[in-house]
Amino acid sequence: MSVNKNLQASPRGEALGPDHTARRACLGVFAASALLAVACARAQAAAEPLPVFVSLLPQKQVVERIGGDAVKVDVLVLPGQSPATYDPTPQQMVALAKAAVYFRIGVPFENTWVPKIQQAHPKLTIVDTRQGITLQPMGGHDHDHDHGAKPQAGAASKAPVNLDPHIWTSPPLVKQQAATVRDALIALRPAERARFEAGYARYAAELDALDADLRRLLAGKAQRRFMVFHPAWGYLASAYGLEQLPIEVEGKEPSPQALARIIDRAKAEGIRVIFVQKQFSRTAAEQVARAIGGEVLAIDPLAEDFVGNTREVARALASALR
Ligand SMILES: [Zn+2]
Repeated sequence: MSVNKNLQASPRGEALGPDHTARRACLGVFAASALLAVACARAQAAAEPLPVFVSLLPQKQVVERIGGDAVKVDVLVLPGQSPATYDPTPQQMVALAKAAVYFRIGVPFENTWVPKIQQAHPKLTIVDTRQGITLQPMGGHDHDHDHGAKPQAGAASKAPVNLDPHIWTSPPLVKQQAATVRDALIALRPAERARFEAGYARYAAELDALDADLRRLLAGKAQRRFMVFHPAWGYLASAYGLEQLPIEVEGKEPSPQALARIIDRAKAEGIRVIFVQKQFSRTAAEQVARAIGGEVLAIDPLAEDFVGNTREVARALASALR
């Protein structure tokens, strides 16, 4: 990546490197010779990969499937870190200076950090991958979320609505995010349009196959509710006709009274498995599991392999539901 040291950013955050120089030269020679134009296209194809940042690990797969060798993806929130409270490292802040684009997704640490990142790197293109997606409220009226999005400005409703940020756990929504990524990559490097469109088409087909698998795995279950500690699966649940029952209350462990109500609910619903994720304590989940004679099972909403992991999650859900 030494070539990138001397690169400047254009107003759209585009790297002005060998790639750009080649393009400028191409414009000059295009009319003169079709052969030279072909050579120029090759020079552009061999350009340095676009340096890309994303917030979360599952987004890395989306960008890499679409961009292939034409992108180099860095992730801000590393494994084991919380998207609610993450602080980018000084090294990440420096590396962002060289990025062509940062795909944000709407997790809470971005509320603090996106303005700082934009201020430090005014020419960096920041693309919001929530575009085209309707955010839904966090499920459960008394279940607030420690990292829920702020209510939409100008919302008519007086009651504050916490919007669910976990849009990266649902195959149909990831497909929408992939289309946003494809369009942004094409805008940054139009010479690679065909590659990005083909990468998107392949990934979209993978996501469609995943969607079909989930429909098949989760169809025919009379029981539609599952219990989780942290409610990260709201969009996946909506997409497949399920409902998550969170143990966490307002982003915290439940009080003894709340825990007693949750145990009653788990019994009434015939719950057998309590789902947890490694980023959160499993104490309350274990208490519920003991009380109902059930088990605690970890599933991961922040795994890097979105497609493979989501298939595993669906199998776990399918075996937990009657
Ligand atoms: Zn979460």
